[in-house]
Amino acid sequence: MQADAATLMAELAGASSAETEQRLLPIQRIGRRLFGVANCLITFGDARANSPENERSMASIEAAFCYSVPQPRVPMVVTDTRNEQSLRGHRLVFGAPYIRFYVAYPIHGSDGTPIGSISLIDYAPRAFSDEDQLLLADLTQIVERELQVRSMNAFQLDLQKKNKTLRRKSLIDPLIGTWNRGAIMRILAIESVRCDKVGVPLSLIVLDLDFFKKINDSYGHPAGDTVLVKVASRLRSCIRPAEALGRYGGEEFLVVLPATSEATAMAVAERMRRAIAEQPEVIGEASFNLSISAGVASTETFPAAAAEELISRADVALYAAKDAGRNCVRQAKPDLPELS
Ligand code: GH3
Ligand code: MG
Ligand code: MG
Repeated sequence: MQADAATLMAELAGASSAETEQRLLPIQRIGRRLFGVANCLITFGDARANSPENERSMASIEAAFCYSVPQPRVPMVVTDTRNEQSLRGHRLVFGAPYIRFYVAYPIHGSDGTPIGSISLIDYAPRAFSDEDQLLLADLTQIVERELQVRSMNAFQLDLQKKNKTLRRKSLIDPLIGTWNRGAIMRILAIESVRCDKVGVPLSLIVLDLDFFKKINDSYGHPAGDTVLVKVASRLRSCIRPAEALGRYGGEEFLVVLPATSEATAMAVAERMRRAIAEQPEVIGEASFNLSISAGVASTETFPAAAAEELISRADVALYAAKDAGRNCVRQAKPDLPELS
């Protein structure tokens, strides 16, 4: 039970119990100096396994002694071990190194369970005054607070990590690993404001797989999924870190290109088209000849366009590419003035 509590405490503190003990070394140094004893040890639960039999340093023998006696539930003060029934038969008391003085106070976890102890050891009988007892109680409290702070920090860190994972999950498409629609739209909104402020163009590409339905129909939805994953990976290889690829719809992607001219955006779209079309995607026994159609829109051509308008301009260009026979890229053009 004690060992479980210690392990739990150590786990909460983000450390093994050996690590936790290590972090409490300064308090043990203070204890040694404060009480003028041979050693002050802080131990948790039953950690005899941590003290290999062949290790013969005094500190390890003293630690072995602490672990070999029952962990105290209340303060235990033995000013002379030879007079203490439960200790006088201990091999480290009647034999070398002849431990003569032993005091142990329980350390409690935040729920009040005893999880370890702080012990004082010496090799001659000594007095332990009321003031000493108060001081050791104070030191015990410091240890308990230190453990609480560490477990709080570990708890917060764990929470932050979980939040980060959750946040990531809420932004990433679970199938293809690109930004999802919500995330790419937010990126577009942010970049749109930023590019406008800095006075650089923002361009985007809307692209769609050609005849994708046929793949699903002929090979099944799972095969279609695998194709989508492969396509996303090819598309990703065509952009730089500052540029963003998101899944806009089923098999439709949105690429946000901040600080990018229309001509460069056209080149990126063309690079993507070639990356998809240049060699078939082989999945198992099947080989897929794939292609995409893409529409490009830029604030260079539509300086007053908000993000949504830019997307719908690129969408129109995408459908022009589909109309032109697919496997091609089209640039969004301003509307022609109506003839009167
Ligand atoms: P077009 O060249 O005109 O774009 O033809 P298409 O067949 O690609 O277009 P259409 O919109 O008719 O079909 C798109 C298909 O994409 C239909 C839908 O079932 C499929 N699809 C959408 N999302 C997924 C997905 O996550 N996995 C799979 N396997 N298929 C999907
Ligand atoms: Mg399609
Ligand atoms: Mg589509």
